[in-house]
Amino acid sequence: MPIAKRKLDRVKQVKRWLEHAFPAQRPVRLVIRDLTPIEKKLLGYVSYGATLDTLYLHSMQPLYVMLATLLHEWAHVLCREEGLPPRQSKSREPTFHSALFWQKAGAIEVRFLEAGGVKESGSF
Ligand SMILES: [Zn+2]
Repeated sequence: MPIAKRKLDRVKQVKRWLEHAFPAQRPVRLVIRDLTPIEKKLLGYVSYGATLDTLYLHSMQPLYVMLATLLHEWAHVLCREEGLPPRQSKSREPTFHSALFWQKAGAIEVRFLEAGGVKESGSF
């Protein structure tokens, strides 16, 4: 299967590749839609549910932004599954982007961008 030409098809293709290359323990639902003004500041985000997580992406962004956001948010899904706290209880400062998060996000980006993931994901 070649790399999908339509933007939304390509995003879904890369999501299926992520499920293969960096499997999540629970199902992750992908929702691509026009986000609210508050949501748009994030470009995308993950809502953690009891049995599945929902990854929201802003549909009006260019493909490269949507893919970068998808890779980033996937790292959040994996961090959450490993029990990394979403917030620090004492300072209430967000710890979403801890050193461990960036290790995970970096591994995903390197595999996608530099280790053949762009081409490989065309098969998903
Ligand atoms: Zn983040």
